[in-house]
Amino acid sequence: MAASPQLRVFHTVCSHDCPDSCAVLVTVNEEGRAVKVEGDPSQPVTRGFLCGKVAKYLDRVYAPDRVLYPMRRKSGVAKAPLQRGHELEAFERVSWDEALDAIAARLKETSDRYGPESILPYSYAGTIGVLGYGSMDRRFFHRLGASQLDRTICSEAGGQAWNLVYGKKFGMPTEDFRLAKLILAWGANIHGNNIHLWPFVEEAWRNGARLIVIDPYRTRTAAVADWHIAIRPGTDVALALGLMHVILDEGLEDRAYIAEMTHGFAALAERAREYTPERVAAWTGMTPGEIEQLAREYATTRPTALRLNYGVQRAENGGAAVRAIAMLPALTGAWKMRGGGGQLSTSGAFAWDKKALERADLALVSPLGRLARVVNMSALGQALTELGTKGPGAEGLKADADGPAVYALFVYNSNPGAVAPNHNAVRRGLERDDLFTVVHEQFFTDTTDYADFLLPATTFLEHTDVQGAYGHYFVQLSKQAIEPQGEARSNVWLFGQLAQRMGFAEPCFRDTPEEMIRQALAIGADGRSTNAGMEHITVEDLERAGHVPLAFHAHPEAQPFLPYTSGSVPTPSGKIEFFSVALAAAGLDGLPGFVPPAESRWSEAAKKYPLELLARKNDNYMNSTFANLPGHRKMEARTSQRIEMHPADAEARGVAEGDLVRVFNDRGAIELTAMLNAHLPAGVVAARLDWAKLHPGGANVNALTSERLTDIGGGATFYSTLVQVAKV
Ligand code: SF4
Repeated sequence: MAASPQLRVFHTVCSHDCPDSCAVLVTVNEEGRAVKVEGDPSQPVTRGFLCGKVAKYLDRVYAPDRVLYPMRRKSGVAKAPLQRGHELEAFERVSWDEALDAIAARLKETSDRYGPESILPYSYAGTIGVLGYGSMDRRFFHRLGASQLDRTICSEAGGQAWNLVYGKKFGMPTEDFRLAKLILAWGANIHGNNIHLWPFVEEAWRNGARLIVIDPYRTRTAAVADWHIAIRPGTDVALALGLMHVILDEGLEDRAYIAEMTHGFAALAERAREYTPERVAAWTGMTPGEIEQLAREYATTRPTALRLNYGVQRAENGGAAVRAIAMLPALTGAWKMRGGGGQLSTSGAFAWDKKALERADLALVSPLGRLARVVNMSALGQALTELGTKGPGAEGLKADADGPAVYALFVYNSNPGAVAPNHNAVRRGLERDDLFTVVHEQFFTDTTDYADFLLPATTFLEHTDVQGAYGHYFVQLSKQAIEPQGEARSNVWLFGQLAQRMGFAEPCFRDTPEEMIRQALAIGADGRSTNAGMEHITVEDLERAGHVPLAFHAHPEAQPFLPYTSGSVPTPSGKIEFFSVALAAAGLDGLPGFVPPAESRWSEAAKKYPLELLARKNDNYMNSTFANLPGHRKMEARTSQRIEMHPADAEARGVAEGDLVRVFNDRGAIELTAMLNAHLPAGVVAARLDWAKLHPGGANVNALTSERLTDIGGGATFYSTLVQVAKV
């Protein structure tokens, strides 16, 4: 794409873990330096703007503290948090050849000595580009026979729960929210981390819609809503069932839609009968009248759009909560009208050819001759400290207890030293002298402090990829706009090179990104994709436009997409399941029900630790990404290193605004400054995730969170954490 003889403009895609997957135009000058990033005005969801995190992205790409070349830990430097700004002193520069040879040799030795499953990859969505997220890396670890990682930390509970109801993650198109007359944002901070939905919300608002936000915390979105309902953490499933109770009691359900499209209505109706407004009010902190009002408003407004986001499912009962909430638009038939229905994620619509990309078949030629064991990433602390020590099938070990201890950890696309729950257990694992740790990163982080080898990683401006989204329906090509900074390299390059050093002769390890994009799209003989919904897409189209809608979204006005309104859905019954056939077959409750989390105000543990902690995400960071940049830190300064408390909870502890307090439980403690917030429910405190090394005591909120897993999907339970607070 040409701009002027001196300037060139490239189509790229923001690959950070965000539903919006923005189309980003990058202007590059004659010296090959990126001089501008801007949202692509022609992309119907990006609409020409970027969020505050990425609008200044060049500060990140050209940051003076980028990791720019491979490094090896100096001998004798202990694995422990390194002083910020002095990390370089712990490492010595090596060439890529030296680093790759040494890493390959150590992985071979580890595999020979302890078995290949003693090697654990650890990655998540540091990039959500299709190639960067999971392609050459998966091939490499399958061929090696390394442990497989169950990538559960963020969205697995909600994703599986949605799929139990609807079979696949489809949702109403983002652009159609503008047609809604009621928008119910449930655990969805649209303004904070789904900003490209916001203009559609505003348009709906201008046309008379109401915005209701359900969230224990008064987010930016909640603060401007017509009605903010601050329920207690972990009570969402009770509220959803209470709404069903009222809807059914008053005959507000859509019987025709239910008869045609759903399975298990009678059983659900019986379950919902138990959830009277009075009982639900006692759990959620709402009044019975508010529950009735919300139910009536939700069921009688047309069209009604539900934006459900992943915060809801980070409680111990998060899977049941997402199931119950997801059933609401099916109960009222909200899907039938354009501008109605719901959205958790649109990712189920992107049928990438993962078989070709990930090559799980390579496990058959690994030393194991089979697929390796699976280790849950949400229990990394246990995986690093307990695996191999308790024997096969050990009780209470949530990571797979079979097989060897982990002796080599390969981290990329993630910063577990900051984001993994139970930080102190993770840290004990990372500090092990007998653990060989490789980290592929853009900056020094909480995790790189423990690296034996640190390898420089590219940003999305520096490599080519293809991407879908979980907040819209466009396939997008991200072209490399600039040369990699220093000696930074992409995931595809890194794992292809390592495979060759390991002696893996399969030709797939020599595939180029361009070849892998064609594989992801399953390009057929006629040059078009053969993936479902992508049959009209060619690489040339993507090169030209940057973004191409999926087939069902190609003509949104003439042929609007109304998911779940006809035909069968991919569940065992072929219907939207109020009653889960799969769960019942597994001997579990086929219906959602409210079970208070083991760490909540109703549990025994609350006698010792009575406050429910919301270990919150930031609006201006992406989990831990961006937290090192001064401009981004400034935007989060107001709540930095603070614990927000209801005034009654503060007073009961003799704590005043600005006091230094100790927040603690049996897993750990951190010191924070008290900040009073009357919008929080009493008994709930809130603190933001930050880098551990940027906290004075070297630990962040994850020193308090647990490795207990969600009811569905084995996800992390960041929002089911009990603590006590005491003045220092
Ligand atoms: S973080 Fe999200 S909103 Fe911001 S530019 Fe990236 S995709 Fe867009």
